[in-house]
Amino acid sequence: MNREHDEIAVVGAGLAGCLLACFLARRGYRVALYERRPDPRTGRVERGRSINLALSERGLDALRRIGLDEQVMADALPMRGRMIHPVAGEPQFQSYSSSGDRAINSISRGALNNALLDAATARPGVRAVFDHRLVGLDPATGDLTFETPEGKVTANAPVVLGADGAGSAVRGQLLAHGLLTESLDFLDYGYKELTVPPAGGDFALDPDALHIWPRGTSMMIALPNPDRSFTCTLFWPTHGTAAFASLGSPAAIERHFAEHYPDLVPLAPNLVDDYQHNPVGVLGTVRCTPWQANGKVGLLGDAAHAIVPFYGQGANCALEDVVELDRCLDECGDDWSAALPLFQQRRQGNAEAIARMALANFVEMRDKVASPLFQLGRRVEHALERALPGRYVSRYELVSFSTTPYAEVARRVRRQHQALGVVAAGAAALLVGAAGMVLGRGRRR
Ligand SMILES: Cc1cc2nc3c(=O)[nH]c(=O)nc-3n(C[C@H](O)[C@H](O)[C@H](O)COP(=O)(O)OP(=O)(O)OC[C@H]3O[C@@H](n4cnc5c(N)ncnc54)[C@H](O)[C@@H]3O)c2cc1C
Repeated sequence: MNREHDEIAVVGAGLAGCLLACFLARRGYRVALYERRPDPRTGRVERGRSINLALSERGLDALRRIGLDEQVMADALPMRGRMIHPVAGEPQFQSYSSSGDRAINSISRGALNNALLDAATARPGVRAVFDHRLVGLDPATGDLTFETPEGKVTANAPVVLGADGAGSAVRGQLLAHGLLTESLDFLDYGYKELTVPPAGGDFALDPDALHIWPRGTSMMIALPNPDRSFTCTLFWPTHGTAAFASLGSPAAIERHFAEHYPDLVPLAPNLVDDYQHNPVGVLGTVRCTPWQANGKVGLLGDAAHAIVPFYGQGANCALEDVVELDRCLDECGDDWSAALPLFQQRRQGNAEAIARMALANFVEMRDKVASPLFQLGRRVEHALERALPGRYVSRYELVSFSTTPYAEVARRVRRQHQALGVVAAGAAALLVGAAGMVLGRGRRR
């Protein structure tokens, strides 16, 4: 490929696509960044996508590499722990780290996307093409077809990278050509967003925390926004008596929230309107293989491995993908036919590991966090982290505050739990032994 003349096609100007354009431009490639939506910087916001997201170390590490971390963090709101809201009683704070000072960051998805888009289009050789929805791709030739407001448009690229999200059209095209297999596991839960506006000009809830209302089989969370509002997200079943559709009238909505989320009601004056008009989003896990075809078409981010949002890692993982792909290009001397398979080899196990951890974290967030036993477990874990610095590190810490590969996180946590199990069994054996001696002595007397 001639980097000065040929233009790589990146499909999707979302988080991964824009960051990828930055990295490719830095390598000297020309890039056409195709996006189905209009330019988001013109202010037209799509309803129904999450408004804010939690950015943690993996995403920050990727942004740092293109010098964008400080700009993005300028508006970020650090959340140092979870604030658990019971149905009755005072909220309780649970710190994310043993030191209490580590935080994940609530940031505006739109602002992050715009910052990345600005950074990409400021690089020589990158052009963003909006209102272009990919509808056709020949994986052998790199011929692309887009639907635009002016009708169908075609293009050709030596390399095509699909960063077009969970419902990826690039993945769909590879599937249609019999070049990959996929599985889509939808959760029986959807999500809907509500807003808590500022109260008297200030945050209506503590802005230093990610708020959770765990309700057993469902939950609500809330993250702070720079304008001092909070965006709440309900994660409720899609079917049955507890589903979104079961609340059919304003009175039913008000009754339900007064019963299950009583402390929210006075803070959310537009509750009924938000509930009735905001869409219900779907949640699921996407798995597919391979992630590339002919060494010419590749997938990354949600297009390759969308996950459920309960570990706050989907975007972090998508941004981390870009760093890894860049590394693979380094190692393969920019031979795409070697770099794309290597990228899959390095990332697929990690994507699977975080997909599983994200599913498991749903149960933790909606149910376990409220239990005294869970809270005791977290305190013990933090005590162990302080007593064995660097030797015992919690899963949350490894996932959110490090760049340890996700699969290694899963292995390490398993090893730590096994070791703790051995210690606990040893301690129990010692106790039983000691008790036996005491009892034996008692019997001899
Ligand atoms: C409710 C919710 C909360 C979340 N919270 C977090 C969080 O706290 N932390 C976190 O890290 N992650 C979170 N995520 C996950 C995160 O949003 C995704 O993992 C992340 O956006 C993936 O980035 P991406 O660039 O791969 O895809 P996307 O951000 O989806 O971008 C894909 C882009 O491709 C474009 N596109 C799609 N189809 C086409 C086409 N045919 N032609 C051209 N363009 C196309 C889209 O318009 C879009 O701009 C959350 C997700 C949800 C649903």
